[in-house]
Amino acid sequence: MKTILLIGNGMVGHKFCELFSRHARRSNYRLIVFGEERRPAYDRVHLSEYFANRDADRLCLASSDWYAENGIELQCGQKIIAIDTAAKRVTTASGETYAYDSLILATGSSAFMPPIPGRDKKGVFVYRTIEDLDGILDYAAKLKGKPNASASVLGGGLLGLEAAKATLDMGLESHVVEFAPRLMPRQLDDKGSDVLKDTLVNLGLGVHCDKNTRQIAGNGCITHLEFADGSELPTDMLVVSAGIRPRDELAREAGIEVGPRGGIVCDEYLRTNAPDVYVIGEAALYRGMIYGLVAPGYEMARVALGHLMADDGLAAMPPSIDMSTKLKLIGTDVASFGEPFTSPDEARSIIFHDEVAQVYKRINVSLDGTKLLGGILVGDASAYNMLHQMVQNDMALPPNPEDLILGARGGAEAGAGVLDLPATAVICSCENITKGQLTELLDDGKAQSVKDLAGCCGAGTGCGGCKPMISDLVDSHLKAQGKVVRNVICDHFPYTRQELRDLVILKKVTNYDEAVDAFGAGEGCETCKPALASIFATVNMETANRQPAIQDTNDRYLANIQRNGTYSVVPRIAAGEITPAQLMDIGRIAAKYDLYTKITGAQRIDMFGARLEQLPIIWEELIAAGFESGHAYGKSLRAVKSCVGSTWCRYGMDEAVSFAIDLENRYRGLRSPHKLKGGVSGCIRECAEARGKDFGLIAVEGGYNVYVCGNGGARPRHAELLAGPLDKATCIQYLDRFLMFYLRTAAPLQRTAAWLDSLEGGIDYLKSIVVEDQLGIAAELEAEMAELVHNYKCEWKEAVTNPAIRSRFQTFTNTPEADESLSFSPLRQQKMPVAWT
Ligand SMILES: Cc1cc2nc3c(=O)[nH]c(=O)nc-3n(C[C@H](O)[C@H](O)[C@H](O)COP(=O)(O)OP(=O)(O)OC[C@H]3O[C@@H](n4cnc5c(N)ncnc54)[C@H](O)[C@@H]3O)c2cc1C
Ligand code: SF4
Repeated sequence: MKTILLIGNGMVGHKFCELFSRHARRSNYRLIVFGEERRPAYDRVHLSEYFANRDADRLCLASSDWYAENGIELQCGQKIIAIDTAAKRVTTASGETYAYDSLILATGSSAFMPPIPGRDKKGVFVYRTIEDLDGILDYAAKLKGKPNASASVLGGGLLGLEAAKATLDMGLESHVVEFAPRLMPRQLDDKGSDVLKDTLVNLGLGVHCDKNTRQIAGNGCITHLEFADGSELPTDMLVVSAGIRPRDELAREAGIEVGPRGGIVCDEYLRTNAPDVYVIGEAALYRGMIYGLVAPGYEMARVALGHLMADDGLAAMPPSIDMSTKLKLIGTDVASFGEPFTSPDEARSIIFHDEVAQVYKRINVSLDGTKLLGGILVGDASAYNMLHQMVQNDMALPPNPEDLILGARGGAEAGAGVLDLPATAVICSCENITKGQLTELLDDGKAQSVKDLAGCCGAGTGCGGCKPMISDLVDSHLKAQGKVVRNVICDHFPYTRQELRDLVILKKVTNYDEAVDAFGAGEGCETCKPALASIFATVNMETANRQPAIQDTNDRYLANIQRNGTYSVVPRIAAGEITPAQLMDIGRIAAKYDLYTKITGAQRIDMFGARLEQLPIIWEELIAAGFESGHAYGKSLRAVKSCVGSTWCRYGMDEAVSFAIDLENRYRGLRSPHKLKGGVSGCIRECAEARGKDFGLIAVEGGYNVYVCGNGGARPRHAELLAGPLDKATCIQYLDRFLMFYLRTAAPLQRTAAWLDSLEGGIDYLKSIVVEDQLGIAAELEAEMAELVHNYKCEWKEAVTNPAIRSRFQTFTNTPEADESLSFSPLRQQKMPVAWT
C-alpha cells in the first residue's frame, strides 16, 4: 500500500479527500492529512455567515468522523515544519516524521498584511479564519459602548467589500479604503466602480478610493488612519483585506521551486519540480498566476488526484482559467465575466447605464459581432449566469447583442436560455458539473429540485453562484416534460409563497423562529425573512414594528434611507388631496426640522434629511396634525393617484378623487410581495396614468373599467383590462379578490406585471379566478381582505407611542445623541446631502 501525505486541510485539501474517498482504487493507498488549524476543513467562502450565528459547526465541510469512516487519517492542529524531498518524508511540529510515496501541498494562502507602520496596534485584524472573525467580533463588542464607533476595511476588492458589509451589519459606522482609484479594480472599469460606489454609499458605507495609507495611528489601540495625501480617517478598528500571499514557506525551505513573487510552481498536472510532490489550491503558481477562487482549486484537486492515481484519460489543467466572479452579500449585484476590460481595437463594448436605478451593464462583443467576450454587471446581475455561459461555450450572439443587457424588444428573443446551452456546458464550476449531468439526473427521476441535485452530485454547494441557473434548468426541464414546477421561496423554506402562508395559518406560527422550527431550516436569508414578515403582516395583522430582525432595512426604521444616511418622511396624502391647513402643518414641521421638501410623482410631499433619532419626534408632530404613515418605505400600498375628475374637470365622467381616496384608505398598509400602486382617472384621457399602475380604474360610460398589473419604472407596462364597466362596489369586490390572490401566490419581490406573466393563461386565467370565481375562493379572498382592512393601524403611531419600539430610533446603540457627522450643502433655498466620500 502506498502512502499519500496531504499538507493542509482547507477547502481544496478537503476536496482532494472527498474525491479520494470516492475513487475506485483508493484501497491501494493510505491517505494522511495534516491540518494546522485546530478544526477540520470549513467553508471559507461562506465565512462571513459566521457573524450571524457564531456557529463554526455550520461551516464545517465534514466532521472528523467522516474522515475516520472513509479511512482517511486526519490530524488537526498538526503543522508540518519540514519536507525532505530526497528522503521523501515530512516532519511535524511535534517532531514526528512520516514517509510518503506522494506528497500533496494544499497549504493555501494567508491574508497579506502590507508593511504599514502601526499594523501591530490593537484593533487591527485580517479576514481569513474563524479565529480572525472571533477576534473581530470580540473587539467590536468592546466598541459597543463607545459613541461614534467606526470600523474601516483596507482593500476595496471582493473580500474587502464583504468584510465592510459585515462590519456595517455589526452596527458600526463603516468605511472602505482602497489604494487604487476604483473599487474592485480587477473586476470593474471606472464607470462600474462609480456606480458601485454610489450604491455602497447609499447602503451607508463610506468609500475612499485613491488612498495610500501611510500610517495606522493610535496609542496602543488604533484611532485613525493617516494617508499620503495628508488626510486622515478616524477609526476604532481596521480589517485588512489587501490580498493574499501563498503559503509557500515550507516548499521554499525544502528547495521546491517557487515563483519570484511567491507561489509553488507547478505544471498542468500540478507537479512541482520535486519528485512525487504536487501542489493544489491557493498555494499553486500555475502559468504564472495564483487563483484566489475555490473553483480552480477544486479542479486542481481533481487533476492532481487523477495524475497520482494514473487514471485513464488523464486530464490536465486547462491553459486558461476562468476568473469570472459574482460578489455576494453586499446588498447589491456585482459581477464580471470573461474579459471585462477590452480596448476598442479588439472588441466593441455595448454599455447600458441607468443613473437613477444605479445599474451599469457592459458587454464586450467581438469586432465581427458574433461572439460575446466578457462584461461587467453592477446593480443588476440577473443575466450573469447566462452571459457567463455564453462566453464559456462560445455561443453565437442574438441578432441584436444589446438585447442581452436591455432585454428583447419588439417580440424578439433576448438570447439563449438555459435549455439552449450545450450538454457540455459547465453549470457548477466549483463542482465541475455539466448541464448534461444535471439533466440526466432530472431525466432519471433521481432529482426533481435544486435541493435534490445538490444531494445527488453536489451542484450548487460550492460558492452557490450557479444556483439561479440550476433553478432555471430545473424549471425549464420539468416544464418541457409537462411537469408542474414549484417556485419555492429559498433553501430555508422549500415552499411556494402560498404554501408558506398556508403553513403559517395551519401551524398557528407567530414568529420567524417558530416558522424555522416548524417547517424551515438554517439561519434564513434576505429572501425568506422579508417574505415571512410580509406573510405575518397579512395573516397575523402585525405591523413592521414587530420582528424588526426579519424586516427589510427600510421597514425596520419605517423610512427610506437616503444617500447621506439620513431618512425621508412621507405622510399619507390620500389621492393627493390636501387642505391648506395640512399644507401649512407640513410646511411648519419641515421648516422646524430643516427638511428638504419635494412633491412626488405619487402626489404627496416627501421630506428629506431627517436623522434617525429625529424620526419619532417629527412623526409625533405629524400625527398630532392628523397625518399617518404613507408607507413609502414598505412593500405595500404606496398611493392611489387620481386626477381631479368630475369635481373640477369638465370632461370628467365621475368623481375620481373621492373614489381614489376610498381605495387608498381601504388598502393602506397592505403588505404585499412588492410595492403596490393604484390610480383612478375620471375619463379615458387618463390624466392619472392609471394604466401604469398595479391597479387602475378609468371612468367610462356606465361605470369604471378595472385594469390590473401595470407599472412604470425601467420597464413600463400598461395594465390589462380585468373587467368593466362596473359600479364602484363591484370594482372594490374585484380589487379585493385580485389583491388577495396576488398576495397569496406571487413570489417575493415579484411585481404584479411579472406575476401575471408567470400565471399560465395570463389575464384570462386571472379573470377566471377574480371575475368568474372558477376556483370557488372569491368569498374567502374577500373575507381575508375585509379583515385586513378592519385591522389596519398606523405603524408610525404605534412606534411613537410604544417606548420599546421608539427606543430603536437612535443612531448609536448606547446614546440617543445625534450623528453630527451628517453634512449638507445649500440648494435653491433648501439643502442637499453632502455624500460620504
Ligand atoms: C472571506 C472569504 C470569502 C471568500 N469568498 C469566495 C468566493 O465567493 N468565491 C470563491 O471562489 N472563493 C472565495 N474565497 C476564496 C476561497 O476561500 C479560497 O480560494 C479557498 O479557501 C482556498 O482553499 P485552499 O485549501 O487552497 O487554502 P486554505 O483555505 O487557505 O487552506 C489551507 C490550509 O492549509 C493549512 N496549512 C498551511 N500550512 C500548513 C502546514 N505547514 N501544515 C499544516 N497545515 C498547513 C492552513 O492552516 C489552512 O487551513 C473567499 C475567501 C475568504 C477568506
Ligand atoms: S382624466 Fe379626464 S377627468 Fe381626469 S382630469 Fe383628465 S380629462 Fe379630466
